[in-house]
This record gives sequence, structure tokens and C-alpha cells, in this order.
Amino acid sequence: MAVMTAATMRGQQGGTGGKGFSETELQQFKAVRPIDSHTHIYRYTPAYFALLQKLDMHTLDIMVVSDNADPERKVLSQESADVFELVNKSGHRVYACTTFDPYLFNQPDFAAKAITGIDHAFDEGAVAVKIWKNVGMEIKDAKGKYVLPDDAAFAPIYADIANHHRTLIMHIADPDTAWLPPDPHASDASYFIQHPEWYMYRISGSPSKDQILNARDHVIQMNPNLKVVGAHLGSMEGEFPRIAATLDRYPNFAIDLTARMPYIMKLPRAEAIAFFTKYQDRLIYGTDDTYYPGADAQRLVREAEDTYARDWRFLSTDSAIIFRNIQAQGLALPPEILRKVYHDNAIRWYSEMR
Ligand SMILES: [Zn+2]
Repeated sequence: MAVMTAATMRGQQGGTGGKGFSETELQQFKAVRPIDSHTHIYRYTPAYFALLQKLDMHTLDIMVVSDNADPERKVLSQESADVFELVNKSGHRVYACTTFDPYLFNQPDFAAKAITGIDHAFDEGAVAVKIWKNVGMEIKDAKGKYVLPDDAAFAPIYADIANHHRTLIMHIADPDTAWLPPDPHASDASYFIQHPEWYMYRISGSPSKDQILNARDHVIQMNPNLKVVGAHLGSMEGEFPRIAATLDRYPNFAIDLTARMPYIMKLPRAEAIAFFTKYQDRLIYGTDDTYYPGADAQRLVREAEDTYARDWRFLSTDSAIIFRNIQAQGLALPPEILRKVYHDNAIRWYSEMR
């Protein structure tokens, strides 16, 4: 699959011992008006919508174009039609994040075409635009050089998003594991075994993670009026001082927690609490919940609720959490921080969401 999905990055295949919400937990969870700001659900699925209703959850459904994924993700026009159908059926529960097709990079009218598509999606209600890791890790220019996110060809696209007061979601680069020698103990090792196309360690001539992240930072710096959300802890999951430095340097930058909770669970508890306290206005909750046609909808629903419940227990209580060989104690964050991470920050950074 194209993205780091539930099974591969949250380790759900191994079983988590996670359990859905108790009635009391459910009431507390609903009270923060939870938003999952990072999903990839491309088809209307009644069981999933029943879950969203049960949790009173709103979501941001993110489009991706990938040439090495399911056929569904290859054609943006089809994917976009599917997502907007779902958005329209959802009764303002699901919002759309559009994207552009980066594989058209070498066409002379690349940016103009991308902007036409993006503006059309804004008219349909899209609240954000995603740029994905294939920029930096896959796509090459006409000379065969890897394209980085700060390539001048993208500049008019970023300007257009800023002019529309929408937000750019940057899933740029990947966990460090992609650049390191094989390590069966790495929490994301299985993903890179299943997806050798993203295992940069074995792809000679590919950019370093630093090069890619520096190019990402350059985009944030060059577009001070553009709101940028770095997906997956901004791909700085192994380096919290770097996350802090980046947030400190760029007031137009926030990050989502999507599918990287284990990295937070591995922090010393006091450090994790200090991190949430200091950056309480810049952290946005998300899961990467993914559903493909033909997948088991009941399983999606079960796993999604288990994830929501486990994350909620970790963030809101001081219970012992055991997840993927990590033993952590819940952070027991105060209600005002929980409310920001689960709701207020999403509304602020994706200002068209309600
Ligand atoms: Zn994703």
C-alpha cells in the first residue's frame, strides 16, 4: 500500500491488547469533540460511519497519488470523485484534503494544471492540500535528478494554497529506518521489507533524509503566510529536539501525531508531558486509518476504535499501556490540552473545518 497504513505502522497485525471504549471513556472522549485529522478512507462504508457517529468523530480524509500502490491511487480524478462523494454523504462529518499529481512534474504546464485541480477542489470544499513523500524519495526531473519539495516548480502551487488561506500537509521523508541498515528490531522494519521502493538505504543516489527535511524547512521558511502541517511528527520521530527547534523556528508550522504514537510512548514520561505542554497549540491528532475497497470493514472499525481508545488512555489517563513491546504510563494530560490536540488545533490549522 502507498502510505504507512494501520497494519504496518501501528503494528496492529501483531495484536495490541487494545480494547474499545468503555461507556465512561466514550463520554469523556466525545466531550473533546474529537477530530481524526489524517485518514485515507476512499469509499463510503456504513460500519465505519456508524463508528464515527458513535464517537461523534470528525475526520480529514487525505488524497494521495501513488504509482506504486493500489490502482485506486493512481488516478487523482477518480480518487477525488470518490472522496467528495463520501464527504457529501457524511453530512459535514468528513472533510477532504486534496492533492496534485506529482508524476506530471516534467510536463511544461505542471504547476498550472496542478493549480487548476487544486482550485477546483477548494471550490468543492477541500480544506487542505497534501504533498507526499514521493517528492524527495521517488520522482525525478527530466535530467534524472531527484525532485525535492523546494523545487522552484512547486512555488506557484504553494503560493496558490496560501492565497486561498488553505493548509499544506507535508508528508515528506519517512522514519529514519528507511535510511539505515536493516534492523529487525526497528518498529517499522516490516514496512520497508514490504515496500522496498521506499527503502532508501538500498537505492543508490537517493537523497539523504536530511536533504529532504532541509528542503521541507525551506518551503516553510519561503512561505511564511502558508500554514504547513508536517504529517507523522513531521518525519522527525526519532529526534524530538529537532521537532522542537523546527516548531520554534517556524510559527506557520504544526505537526500531526499520526501513526507515530509509539515514538511518544518511548519518551521518558516527564519529557512527553513537557512536550505536549510546551507545544499544545501545534500538535494535531490523527491515525492514518486506511480502507480499500474489498477490505474487511468490520476489521477496520474494530481496529480503528481500539486505536482511538488506546491513544485516549495514553494521553488522558495515567494507566499502564502496553503496545508493541513498549510499556508506558499514560500522560494524564489536562483537559484543556486534550481538547486542543483532539479538536481546537485541527480547527485552527484547517480553518475551513467546523
Ligand atoms: Zn497518511
